[in-house]
Amino acid sequence: MLEKVVEKPKAGEYPAGLYTDTPVQLIRHPLLTKNQIELWVKRDDLIHPFISGNKWRKLKYIVQEMEKQNKKHLVTFGGPWSNHILAAACAGASFGFRTTAFIRGESVKNPVLAMAKIFGMELIFTDRASFRNPEGLFDGYKEAAGPHQPEDLFYLRQGGHHQLALKGCAEILENLPFSFDKIFCACGTGTTLAGLAMGIAKKRNRDPKFGDGPDLVGIPVIGGGDSLQSEIAALYPEAEFRLLSEYAFGGYARTKHELTAFISDFCSQTGILIEPVYTGKLFYAIFDQINRNEIPKGHRILAIHTGGLTGILGMYEKWL
Ligand SMILES: *Cc1c(COP(=O)(O)O)cnc(C)c1O
Repeated sequence: MLEKVVEKPKAGEYPAGLYTDTPVQLIRHPLLTKNQIELWVKRDDLIHPFISGNKWRKLKYIVQEMEKQNKKHLVTFGGPWSNHILAAACAGASFGFRTTAFIRGESVKNPVLAMAKIFGMELIFTDRASFRNPEGLFDGYKEAAGPHQPEDLFYLRQGGHHQLALKGCAEILENLPFSFDKIFCACGTGTTLAGLAMGIAKKRNRDPKFGDGPDLVGIPVIGGGDSLQSEIAALYPEAEFRLLSEYAFGGYARTKHELTAFISDFCSQTGILIEPVYTGKLFYAIFDQINRNEIPKGHRILAIHTGGLTGILGMYEKWL
């Protein structure tokens, strides 16, 4: 019922349509059979079509915090194809808060921004120099708030980067049916990986059978990711993880024929959609590691499908 969705839920209550208890699914593929490796996918892409995957994991406690602080207007930041922007716009519409986003670069038109606008988000295109100073943009917006109450505004960095985001990401590992030898996840800001590290540490404390727990492996999707290691450590100093930096394909949102061909193979064999910006690079890395015998026979692997399928819309021509 429509009323159910637009009605503002109480803190800790979520509107119909967000399913966080997502399944893990076993993947069938000749390479996995040949190498006797079990690859399972945590289907967080099924949480919601627009408040997708890890973007809801990150927003969950921020939405609660806004509620607690009585903030009615989220101000955030992102690139023109940002999954975070679309998720924030749809979350605002679902939970009944206003949304404004500063979008990096000159004014452009694309399907993701159109959807954000349909969900009621205010978009402000911002030149790259100003975009590098988000606090300055926020303060300026606050001053010019005019008819809005400036004390209503809640500031959220690009990508939903926030300490509260970790807690939600740690919950990705709740209710897993069994243990895994390795967990793989794509990394942008590394917040999701830091949250997973926190989730693993929590499980270790609660369940001694968990032992040393799974190895956590991050696949950076942005080139030159040397700073990522320290950014993750800043978010969660106890984090134990490894980064495999050779799968960025030349940088953020860059792709190569090899990657798009792999995506076609993976999707046509499994029925699970992945895209070139994040999850395509993640699964490419896992399959490449298996091909290079870096993953021992008999291992059980969990890959986190972080959603973000609108990434396909920016590159659909690669397949036509
Ligand atoms: C944003 C995003 C990521 C990156 O998450 P971080 O927490 O910034 O590392 C990974 N996958 C998808 C699909 C995303 O949209």
